[in-house]
Amino acid sequence: MSQTTKTTTLLVIGGGPGGYVAAIRAGQLGVPTILVEGERLGGTCLNIGCIPSKALIHAAEEYEKARHYAEGSALGISVSAPSIDVARTVAWKDGIVGKLTGGVAALLKKNGVEVVQGWARLLDGKTAEVETAAGVVRIQCEHLLLAAGSEPTPLPSVPFGGMVVSSTEALSPADIPKKLVVVGGGYIGLELGTVYRKLGAEVAVVEAQDRILPTYDAELTKPVAAALAKMGVELHLGRKVLGLNGKGNAVRIQDAAGAETQLGADRVLIAVGRRPRTQGWGLETLQLDRKGNALRIDDQCRTSMRDVWAIGDIAGEPMLAHRAMAQGEMVAELVAGKRRHFTPASIPAVCFTDPEVVVSGLSPADAEQAGLDCLSASFPFAANGRAMTLESTDGFVRVVARRDNHLVVGWQAVGRGVSELAAAFSQSLEMGATLEDVAGTIHAHPTLGEAVQEAALKALGHALHI
Ligand code: FAD
Ligand code: NAD
Repeated sequence: MSQTTKTTTLLVIGGGPGGYVAAIRAGQLGVPTILVEGERLGGTCLNIGCIPSKALIHAAEEYEKARHYAEGSALGISVSAPSIDVARTVAWKDGIVGKLTGGVAALLKKNGVEVVQGWARLLDGKTAEVETAAGVVRIQCEHLLLAAGSEPTPLPSVPFGGMVVSSTEALSPADIPKKLVVVGGGYIGLELGTVYRKLGAEVAVVEAQDRILPTYDAELTKPVAAALAKMGVELHLGRKVLGLNGKGNAVRIQDAAGAETQLGADRVLIAVGRRPRTQGWGLETLQLDRKGNALRIDDQCRTSMRDVWAIGDIAGEPMLAHRAMAQGEMVAELVAGKRRHFTPASIPAVCFTDPEVVVSGLSPADAEQAGLDCLSASFPFAANGRAMTLESTDGFVRVVARRDNHLVVGWQAVGRGVSELAAAFSQSLEMGATLEDVAGTIHAHPTLGEAVQEAALKALGHALHI
């Protein structure tokens, strides 16, 4: 096989949101850059993560809406019973993915980034070898950026294969199973569990902790648990998964007292977290410092080896696309000689359940733990006109602010469509807004955003609409 050698200033391993954004920004700044991708540009996020899951969430919501109207509605709408062609739904989702990944390729090209297609193997902190269709390419660099992402964490008692799937297979189903058991009541388990329930499956979620979405505070997840119950999703909390039964058609679970039950299943989705992709491609040879399974980085995304950087999921929690992108942009600027540090006021997080959950900054409990004397106030969507017109009055917006100077330190919300409040929340935190700033901002009427203003007013003791 032929071998060629290339040299570059920046070598990016991985074309996910971390790696491709770093490469685009480096290209904009005139830094010679090569990006190596083993699978498809766009990484987990565009191909098998954020985008396909949100596409299926939308499709499932539309289907459920049609079914709801078929049963009659207070709005006066009636339709006949709908049906769904899952193959077409998946093809529509793949079309969106294709447009976005094609867009990434075009942006990389426009900014002069060379893309090498193949799996990279690290030889040392300045050299990688890639087996491409045209032969082996050896790439030497001044700066090495590790952006290899993460992969689903397997569950030893229920290994992947056959009817036991990860989110990747669950996002491209050939059909909808009659009975789906989801192991893990976190982001993926609940987002995709909701999709399958709305598409007609009987869904049971098994969660090891005693509540769903355990990383969020209990008050925030209560409306999600209530909505899942209303939808008919069974929740088995505080349960251990022992394995499949002998016939392979049920999942054996055990409660805290040791009692065993079985949950019938045609398909099992394992969603118990993701682990950084640190093995099998020579990364071990660099002997970089770790933080648990992830690479340890400082506030400039530097690893323990000079000029070796790491961003995104490979550098641990929070494993979110927007964090990977922000880190990628920063590393490109550092390599180009700019002065930057990664010290965001907050990294917002959204769970796209129905209702959605959004958090940015500190919760009341986080603030207390940080030793801050804070006040907090919630405004319910039940008192918001727009929420009533959207038939979605469950949920609330909550603000957390320092008692002494009213500096806002955190926002949380749960409700339909609240993901779009993430921008307002994070902007107010990044710009150092006080309760008075938010309360004094005219919010358009009628919008869900008025609940943001009202939460600030309530914290100041004079909410207008409650
Ligand atoms: P990745 O996107 O994982 O990209 C890494 C890339 O590196 C991959 O393309 C891989 O093929 C490539 N690679 C790895 N090793 C090599 C090698 N040796 N040689 C060449 N190429 C290599 N986050 C959100 O913020 N919002 C969401 O709504 C959201 N939804 C999600 C839904 C699901 C089902 C999943 C699984 C994840 C979701 N995430 C979401 C998380 C998000 O996808 C990740 O945080 C994000 O993709 C991480 O970006 P990254 O660039 O670090 O890695
Ligand atoms: P997660 O960490 O969100 O949830 C995993 C859940 O599984 C937790 O509640 C945990 O207590 C539970 N669990 C762990 N081991 C278990 C066991 N043996 N039996 C039963 N339950 C068990 O992880 P995920 O849902 O797999 O998602 C992985 C990551 O992908 C997320 O942490 C997040 O970073 C990212 N993601 C983000 C979004 C989003 O931003 N909307 C959506 C999907 C995924």
